[in-house]
Amino acid sequence: MAKDLNYYIRRVKSLRVNTNKGVTPYQPLLLLTVFELIERNYIQENRIYLTPSLISIFVKYRSQLSPSHYQADLAQPFFFMSRSSDPFWHLSPKSGREVVLESGSKLNRIKLLRENVEYAYLDEALFDYLQSPISRNALISALVETWFSSQLSKVEKLMGVNPFKSFTYSGLEKNYELPLASDLDIAQSDVIFDAVRDTTFRRNVVNLYNYRCSFCQLRIVAGDESNIVDGAHIKPFAKFKDDSYSNGISLCKNHHWAFDHGWFSINSDYRILIKQGWLDEDAPSDLRFIQEYHNQEILLPHDEEFFPDLNALAWHRTEWKIAS
Ligand SMILES: [Zn+2]
Repeated sequence: MAKDLNYYIRRVKSLRVNTNKGVTPYQPLLLLTVFELIERNYIQENRIYLTPSLISIFVKYRSQLSPSHYQADLAQPFFFMSRSSDPFWHLSPKSGREVVLESGSKLNRIKLLRENVEYAYLDEALFDYLQSPISRNALISALVETWFSSQLSKVEKLMGVNPFKSFTYSGLEKNYELPLASDLDIAQSDVIFDAVRDTTFRRNVVNLYNYRCSFCQLRIVAGDESNIVDGAHIKPFAKFKDDSYSNGISLCKNHHWAFDHGWFSINSDYRILIKQGWLDEDAPSDLRFIQEYHNQEILLPHDEEFFPDLNALAWHRTEWKIAS
């Protein structure tokens, strides 16, 4: 069969979806994510890495378009799409890991993918079709009409929201066009790059917690998408240069400040530890004192991979002399 545009349109319309608890279209969501990144020039070569931008956009679509009761992570479609019969999505193994991919092991966790897979790539012909706006739109339309027909306006709105552009950074001019977010190589250290890195980190961390404060669970998102939480580093970036998401936690302004000043820490069971005998609080009667959160569990991201790193939390407790 000729692998022309019609062939690929038929393929995106007949993707495998999990029908266990109603249709959960993770493969369509992943393709939508990849098509968007190609459209935005974040993906310029036929190599799809597990970058923060890929994860962030996938989470954006998943949170809006899939049933909330079953929130598989990106690894599921990233892996299983390569296992369909006659796949157009392929995985390129890391050197030395070829045998793992050939063995048929399930790599359906992000950690496993990162260990074994360098990147995914599409059929060359499909990637070529995605370079042209006309054929790309045909593919996106087929995908959206088949899988998200009842949510058309939502998809359109989501595709118009660039998670990396809605930030302004004080060191940048207004409306500055951010460089490609996929270029997250910390070795490049000019000011603009640092701003992008920082913005991407914060944006993605906050996304993982669905814009909620992990401490008090407050969530406020304004009409212009500004919101009340920060993506905080557990171990300070300036010192540790650690931008992994497990070194991040989403905190509202008050609790970010309190965390950075050691008023509280978090134990290895993800419970809040208030520094004892340290805070003298007074507040209106309807506001909860910080000290009342002692021993309460923090809010965690859906995916265990992104839980705060226990070593980073231990570092924070030691740094601020808070016993667990
Ligand atoms: Zn808070």
